[in-house]
Formats: sequence, structure tokens, C-alpha cells
Amino acid sequence: MLTDSVEVLKGVGEKTKEDLALMEINTIEDLVMYFPSRYDMAEIKPLQELIHDDNVTIVGTIMHEPNLQFYGPKKSRLTLTVGIENVAVKAVMFNRAFAKKQLKQGDKVTLSGKWDAHRLQITVNYYQLGEPESDVKIQVFYSVKGNITNAKIKGLITQSLSKYAESIEEILPESYLDSYKIPNRKDAVIQLHTPDSPTTLKHARRRFVYEELLLFQLKMNLLKQRHKIDAGGIEQQIDIPIVEGFIEQLPFALTGAQQKVLQEIKRDMTSPIQMNRLLQGDVGSGKTAVATICLYASVTAGFQGAFMVPTEILAEQHYESLVSMLGDAVNITLLTSSIKGKKRREILEEIVEQKVDIVIGTHSLIQEEVKFAQLGFVVIDEQHRFGVKQRQTLREKGLSPDVLFMTATPIPRTLAITAFGDMDVSIIDELPAGRKEIETYWVKENMLDRVLQFIQKAIDRGEQAYVVSPLIEESEAFDYQNAIDLYEQLQDYYPEEVNIGLLHGRLTAEEKDAIMNDFALNKIHVLVATTVIEVGVNVPNATLMVIYDAERFGLSQLHQLRGRVGRGDKQSYCILIADPKGEVGKERMRIMTETNDGFVLSEEDLKLRGPGDFFGKKQSGLPEFKVADIVHDYRALEVARQDAANIVQNDLLEQDPAYKELQLLVSDEAIDQRFD
Ligand code: ADP
Ligand code: MG
Repeated sequence: MLTDSVEVLKGVGEKTKEDLALMEINTIEDLVMYFPSRYDMAEIKPLQELIHDDNVTIVGTIMHEPNLQFYGPKKSRLTLTVGIENVAVKAVMFNRAFAKKQLKQGDKVTLSGKWDAHRLQITVNYYQLGEPESDVKIQVFYSVKGNITNAKIKGLITQSLSKYAESIEEILPESYLDSYKIPNRKDAVIQLHTPDSPTTLKHARRRFVYEELLLFQLKMNLLKQRHKIDAGGIEQQIDIPIVEGFIEQLPFALTGAQQKVLQEIKRDMTSPIQMNRLLQGDVGSGKTAVATICLYASVTAGFQGAFMVPTEILAEQHYESLVSMLGDAVNITLLTSSIKGKKRREILEEIVEQKVDIVIGTHSLIQEEVKFAQLGFVVIDEQHRFGVKQRQTLREKGLSPDVLFMTATPIPRTLAITAFGDMDVSIIDELPAGRKEIETYWVKENMLDRVLQFIQKAIDRGEQAYVVSPLIEESEAFDYQNAIDLYEQLQDYYPEEVNIGLLHGRLTAEEKDAIMNDFALNKIHVLVATTVIEVGVNVPNATLMVIYDAERFGLSQLHQLRGRVGRGDKQSYCILIADPKGEVGKERMRIMTETNDGFVLSEEDLKLRGPGDFFGKKQSGLPEFKVADIVHDYRALEVARQDAANIVQNDLLEQDPAYKELQLLVSDEAIDQRFD
């Protein structure tokens, strides 16, 4: 049976069993579903076409017995000469003393490894006796742990397949195999381990990509459905005329996108289902304005609202802007970790007694001590900085508030439907009218002088500039020193009437406030800052963003920084000072100069960085797939998503026997295991 322990296999003793367990392989099924991590598809080419330093595969005849030398207890070097097309090629194998016995003079052998064209030598990492079956030899490589070698795991898998392959049953309905022209599960497993040809491998891979993505999307769909059924949300009786009146008197008219999103949110708020919605929109697209309207709407329905942001500066700034928008109509309070003691206790008291309508704060808002009387609406800004657990904690507080997650890092669609498949998604894809495109330039450090003059010109026009200081990775102390150095340098460079400010992470909240205030009032003309200004600061008169060491930032981060300017109606500029060494870095700079569209940038970022990196470490909540790769398998993801939606909508798991196997795999227990 597939569920048998690996112990039933020949060659699996206690030690091997332990090593396999490290790879999360305990049963025969685990083993046969442990797919290669890499394939080498080596085409056998004539010698003169082989490229120096490439990985190549050659076939030749062994000209004389191999020569074996030991140099250390386990270290050995085996050399042999192989005749190919009448040329003698030297082959070197390290630490494979055992191969000496297998490689006999006159035998044909297939060798793969690194080619040294100057010495006509190959450093072998894989060999096989005889000629390959076809012109294209596919080698499989597994990622292994402990004492398990690639050969060992291949042997065990071959052994398992020969005995148990027949037990591998189909889980997809027949009709899917037909319409997508994909092989059945058993054949696909066999082809993934021992591919006959690149084509059969491709089909096998396609099948498992689809299977994985379909299962994932199905679980997400069911989870979403379950959220809706379980979470007895609140039907908020919004006072529509009051809210509309409030929107009327705003100093601007809402964009079409803002209106559309507000409708989507309103529908959720007024329905008995708890909202779980992600609001995406580029920097400055007016998300905060939307959130403010929603918070106010909830207050008119008799509820309290909470607004969570990642940093204290941002909390303070949002507090200011909410107070200025909402005025005396509601009671708004700021609650950050720097508010302590008696003051804090008073605020907490007021929240419980519902003397406070809207609370703005950082993570401290979700601490146990904060109790709400009637929590109705929660906004979480820059949501990818909050873990899944934290979201849950907040949602469990008070009633079942409607929750709006906002992100200014536009998440590529591929990732959004994958990582946030259990949420509804709203998008603001339109900037307020009158905004000018920010012009972006990429310069090398030797043009610093011109950059400094460019800053001077902005100051002469009465405008202001941010200068983001060089960044030293993983050393806050160095960042700090760099910022100070730059600050002093600029003070020397510019005449006295130019006021330069310095903002960094070691300042107290009050000090930061004072500096930001002076900058907002144009008392400071040039603000030197470490990346603390990354999020949310709003000074429309600042029209120039200069970023040192721009190559050290990801595209999304650069875009965030750039979003600090271009907030008013004046032409804004962004200057990237960078000297990237690699192609990826250069490509990033080019893309930055070419587009202002956050969604385009994030798609590019994803391509350059890969999904694992996109959200930063571990917090991503991204599923790990064995075969699928959500960047490259984007189309399959779309198809799987539609199929999953169709299955759930039509209740096929319950109604149609063809879906029996799938149903077992996405049962409640299976979902709980995956997500809890
Ligand atoms: P985001 O939170 O998406 O970065 P904000 O809501 O902070 O964007 O809006 C950025 C700036 O644009 C703010 O100064 C805000 O007052 C203003 N704003 C928001 N919506 C509009 C609009 N529809 N028309 C003009 N200005 C707007
Ligand atoms: Mg914002």
C-alpha cells in the first residue's frame, strides 16, 4: 500500500529511515511524490560545438582502465580517457572510487559535467554506462538531506514505482484529463521521476502543476465560503445622507475608482457577512481617503473604528489627516506604544466606554489590553507587514468587524489571487486628476555634483527635496552614521539659507514629529533621511526625491519612496544614484525610469526576484508548491482558479461522483491541517 512505511523497501534501515524523515518522507506515497528538484536536459552535441564552462553531456568509448588516486580518507580522484570522434578526452570524477570497477576499457559511457574546452576535459557529475536511449538525455536530481545521495533516493523511488505504481489512483475527473490533454496521475508520477522525453516530462509536469493549483484554489474557495457562513458579521445601518454630505464637502471630488471601491465596501458593510477585503492601490491613489469615509460610515451606524498602521510616524500623520477631514463630528484618538501610564489608561477606558469613535495606532492596537465596546470597522494599512495571526487576533476582538486591508505595494494579480485567495479584492487603478507623472532619472555617483545643483534649483523654485541616505545592509548603526555624514556634507555644500533636516530611526517620536512638522511648513528645505520615510509621509510641496544606493532596494520599495513626491500639482522628479554591478540591478533602474505604474513595477519585481522574496521572509503566507511556480505557471493558475470557482459554485464535490476523490482531499480536516 502507498501508506506503508518506507521500511518495507530493500535498503531502508533505521539510519536511512531517519534521513528520509528529515526530508518529510515517511511512507511510500511520500517517496513517490517526492519529485526531482531539477532536470538536466543535455543534448549531445559534437565536440567542437561544446562551450567552455558549460554543463555538457558526451558519449564515448573508454580507452583504458581508469586511474584512481586517494588524497585523504574519503577523498579520491578518478581519471579516465574517453575516445570521442577520434579525439581523446580526459574525464575526472571526484570521490567516486566505486566507479573504477564499473568502467572497463572498451565500454561505451555517457558522461555529464562541466566542460573545459582548453584542456579537452570534463569534470563529471553524472555518468551512465552505455549510450543514452535518445539524443536527449534527461538527468534527474533530487534535493537530498543527511546521508541520502541522489543515487540512493533514485534507487528507492524506482523500487517503489515497480511495486506500487499501480496503486496510484486518479483524483481528477476523467473529463479534465481529456479536455486539458494531461496524463493520468500514475503515468505523470512515473514520467516525473523517469522521463522518456522532454515532451512526456512537460505533460507530466503540466498535470501536477494543474493538480496542485486546483487543490489550492479549491481549499481557498471553500475557506472563503466557510468564513462567510461562520462569521456572523454585522449589518451596519449606515446613515447614507450624512455620509454623502461628508463626501460632498471634501476639498476634492472622488475618482471613479474610489467611488467604485466605496460601493463594493458599502455592500459588504450593510450585509450580514463579515467583510474581509483587500484594497490595492498605488501610492497617492486615495486609499486613505476611502478608508476614512468607511470609518466614518461605521461611526454613523453606531460603531467604533480602528485604523492600524505599521509605524508611529504614520499613525501620527493619519491621525492628523483624519482629524482634519472629520473635524469635530467624531472623537478620534491616537494610541501608540509611546503613550504610556495614566494617559494610556484613560484612553483605554474611553475606548471601552465608547467615548472614542475611531482609534488610530500601530500594532499596539491589537494588544490584549485594548477592548472595544462596539468595534465595527477595522482598517489595516500596509497589510503585508502584519502576520496572519495578528489579523486573526484583531478580527476576533469585539464583534465581527468588517476588515479592510490596504496595501500601497500593488500586489501582482498572480500573487493576489494566490496568497489572498480567501479575500475579496478591490482595486483603485486611477490616480486623482491633475497629477503629473514623476520624471525619474538614473545617474552614477560621479554625477553627484549635478544632482546637488538640481536640488538647488528645486529650492530656488520654492520646492523641497528628500534625500535618502546610503543604506548599509543589516546595520542600523551604519545607516545612522551615513545619514549624519551626508547631512554634514550637504550643510557644507549649500549656502546657509538652505535648511537641511535629518531624520533617522534613533530620534524620539517627538523629535521626528518636530522635524516632519518643519518640513511640512517648508522651514526645512532638504530632508536627509534613512528609509524611515518610506511609508506614508505627505508633503505636497516636496517635488524631488534623491535616493542613494538605489540598487540596494527592490523595485517596490523604490516605488514607495518615489511616491513621497508627486503629491501635488507640480512636476516632480526622482533621481536614483546607483551603480549596479549585475544585470538584474541595471534592469531595475531601467524599469524605474520607464514606468510610474505600480502594478507594472510589481509584476517586474516579481519576475526579477521570484515569489519567495516578494513579501519578505516567511510572513508572506504564500503556499509552497512542489511543482507549480506561480510566476511561470500563471496561466494554469488562472485556469485552476476558474475551475475551482465553478466546482464550488455548482457544489460538484457533493453532487457529482466524479469529484469524490477531490472532495476527500479538500475536506474540512484537510483544510484545517493546511491553514491552522
Ligand atoms: P493613499 O492612501 O492611497 O496613498 P491618500 O488617500 O493618502 O492616498 O491620498 C493622497 C493625497 O491625495 C491626499 O493628500 C488626499 O487628500 C488626496 N486625494 C485623495 N483622493 C483624492 C481625489 N479624489 N482627488 C484629489 N485628491 C485626492
Ligand atoms: Mg496612504
